[in-house]
Amino acid sequence: MKLSEQAEDIIERLWIEVEEDGGPFLDPETMFIKPDAESIKELTRNALAELKNGMLYLRAEGREVGRMTVRRHRLAERLMMDVLNLRGETGQMKVCQFEHLLTEGVDTKICTMLNHPTTCPHGKPIPPGECCIEARRSGDLGVVPLTEFKSGQEGEIAYIQTEDNKKMQKLMAMGVLPGNRIVLVQSFPSYIFRVGFSEFAIDTALAKEIFVRRIQP
Ligand SMILES: [Zn+2]
Ligand SMILES: [Zn+2]
Repeated sequence: MKLSEQAEDIIERLWIEVEEDGGPFLDPETMFIKPDAESIKELTRNALAELKNGMLYLRAEGREVGRMTVRRHRLAERLMMDVLNLRGETGQMKVCQFEHLLTEGVDTKICTMLNHPTTCPHGKPIPPGECCIEARRSGDLGVVPLTEFKSGQEGEIAYIQTEDNKKMQKLMAMGVLPGNRIVLVQSFPSYIFRVGFSEFAIDTALAKEIFVRRIQP
């Protein structure tokens, strides 16, 4: 089943509303969509959602479809930000167009390229796919911000996510470069990490911009 872009956008919002925010339904009018719109009919016809008194309810059959749509959206966000470096409004617009192109298989390729990220740039969880589960099973634990590390945990630096050149240079001078090993020594009151034989202290904001691949102990 291939849904129209608008139907995908609706089920995406519906899934977030119900599964993440714990709401009972989605009011399509909040998306400026009339309850009798063709895209709503598409969802009810395919038994993914149910319309009652103008409100849209997620059906069990629609849960996986919604989950995968949210996954594609957040993967597209990661791709725009981390790889293509598109931010702000242009980035967000491109995400909305691009996510619909990430069909079965393409999302897996992008997910693998990005090392199975667990969160989108806004910190929302990316629902894991088969590839993520498989990667975790084989010892690749994915890439997370340094702030998710526990004291004493070791990893490999995957990438730095900052637009600020000064910050980037500061980190590079510390040896924070992709491929280098990093150990989190302490996480409170500031983040102290070790790269090579040197230890550095940084604040939370900067620690959030260092993305580290977890390594199986
Ligand atoms: Zn996001
Ligand atoms: Zn994955």
